[in-house]
Order: sequence, then C-alpha cells, then structure tokens
Amino acid sequence: HAKETGRNRMQFYREEMNARALERLSLEQALRRALEAQELTLFYQGQFDLATGRLLGAEALLRWQHPELGLVPPDRFIPIAEDTGLILSIGRWVLVEACRRAASWQRPGQAPVTVAVNISARQFHHGDLVAEVEHALAQSGLPAAQLELEVTESVLMGGIQPVIDTLDQLKAMGVRLALDDFGTGYSSLAYLKRFPLDVLKVDRSFIRALPQDQDDAAIVAAILGMAGHLGLATVAEGVEDEAQRAHLLAQGCQVAQGYLFARPLPAEEFEARLGEATLTPAS
Ligand code: C2E
Ligand code: MG
Ligand code: MG
Ligand code: MG
Repeated sequence: HAKETGRNRMQFYREEMNARALERLSLEQALRRALEAQELTLFYQGQFDLATGRLLGAEALLRWQHPELGLVPPDRFIPIAEDTGLILSIGRWVLVEACRRAASWQRPGQAPVTVAVNISARQFHHGDLVAEVEHALAQSGLPAAQLELEVTESVLMGGIQPVIDTLDQLKAMGVRLALDDFGTGYSSLAYLKRFPLDVLKVDRSFIRALPQDQDDAAIVAAILGMAGHLGLATVAEGVEDEAQRAHLLAQGCQVAQGYLFARPLPAEEFEARLGEATLTPAS
C-alpha cells in the first residue's frame, strides 16, 4: 500500500511539475510576442511629499495585458523575462516609453515632475545600460534630473567595481539613483557608503504593520535615521492608511507611495491627476 501511495504521489507531483512547466513555457512564448503586439503598457503610481501632500512624480510599473489571460502581474512575468533575456528588450522599451511620457509632464514655470524606472539585475549588468539611458533621455528630451533609476540590493551584489563604475556614469549624467525594497535583500550597510545613491525606498513589508508593530517601528526609525545622516532621501512604499502616513511624517520620512495616495494608474489617468495637482497650488 505504502508503495502504491508513494507512486501515486510521485505521479501527482510529476503532473503538477509538468503543468507548471507548460504554463511557464506558454507564458514565455506569449511574452516573446507581447512587446511587438503592444500588449505591454506602463502604469504610473504617484509619489507624494509627506509634509505637503504635493505630487512629486511617479514610479513606472509594467503591466501585461494578455489577450486571453487578462492582466498578468509583473511578479509572474518579470522573472521569466529575466531568465530568458527578454528583459533586455523589454527594459529598453520601458526606459524610452517612461522618459517620453514624463517629458510631456514638464511645464515651464511649474515644479519638475520625476519618473522612477525599475532596472532589473540582468539589465543592469549586461553593459549597455548607460548608453540606453543616454538614448532615452536624448530622444525624449527629459532632463536627466527628472529620471530616477530604481535598483535592488541584488543588483549591487554583482561585483563591486563594475557596479560602482556604472552608477558613477549614470550619476555623472545627472540621473538620480534609488535603492528599491531596502531592507529585504542581503543588505549590507557598506552598500550605502560605497555606492553613489540618492534615495532609499523603505520596503512595504516594514510599513504594513506600522505604527503598532514595535519591531517594524524600530527598523523604520533606524532606516530613516541612517538615511538622514548619510544625506539620502527616503521614500516609504505601500502606505495604505492615515496612521501609517502620520507615523512616517513624524519620523521624518520625506516621500510616500501607496494606495492611500494613489494606485498605479494608466498614463492618461495619472496625467489627469497631475493636471489637477498642478492647477491647485499646494497650500
Ligand atoms: P516595486 O518596484 O517594489 O514596486 C512597488 C510595488 O508595490 C508595485 O507592485 C505596486 O503596485 C505595489 N504597491 C504600491 N503601493 C502599494 C500599497 O499601498 N499596497 C500594496 N499592497 N501594494 C502597493 P507591482 O506593480 O505589481 O510591481 C511588482 C514588482 O515588479 C515591482 O516592485 C518591481 O520589482 C517589478 N517591476 C514592475 N515594473 C517593472 C519594470 O518596468 N521593470 C522591472 N525590471 N521590474 C518591474
Ligand atoms: Mg520599484
Ligand atoms: Mg519597491
Ligand atoms: Mg517592493
């Protein structure tokens, strides 16, 4: 009996594996066509000044509108894009598209609006990133200071000197550099000293249980304190309620992103909000 149960379990396991591999394979094939078929789009999630509530800019977030599956979340297709190398062409498109869109947001006489673009590890390390960023800025006319590139701690782990060189070149162009999901990777505080970063994005996992959770409150206070001493700006991710907002403001966090302020929106909807925000001067 035990043998049979074992065999059934094996069989079940194998079928499950096959189903998953098949799903992945078909997603992979569909993703190969997605860019050309214009199924990829960027949503924009506002970033807000915590003290004044002013809309400062947006993070560009990739969405895949699959003809049959509907909206496929980035957590499901970006790992595939990374493994297959498709992230290189997708990432290039994201840069050009985000810069083009953000260039149209700038209004003479009004405060500049920034756009933040996520850069994957593979895209960062393949070598042409600096030229691609230059190209996206030149083609769109977006001032470099209005572009922020978000990298995660995993990007910084791939060999110190080449990473510093790339970051230095981007920095020299005037682009801002943000460390995304801070505190979740194999964080080394040495990163903060070695790399020419401008912004720390405090990961959502530390924000979720604020202000009640004492441990999270302590971690967030420590991150904000350290960032302040190092001259880094701070962005809190995933701010969903008023109590979190009030706590972060009191703790000296500068910028917030989250459902409390705005969800990621299609470009036109984000632009409508931006239009309202710039018509009404911040009080
Ligand atoms: P991320 O860069 O950390 O982006 C923030 C994620 O948190 C987004 O998920 C956003 O929708 C979500 N979020 C924002 N505010 C809230 C909130 O208040 N509550 C909750 N529960 N979630 C919130 P999304 O759009 O699903 O993106 C997931 C991840 O996919 C991103 O995490 C980023 O790592 C990656 N990604 C998205 N777009 C791109 C891209 O263009 N290129 C690359 N390489 N990665 C991307
Ligand atoms: Mg990000
Ligand atoms: Mg993040
Ligand atoms: Mg995150």
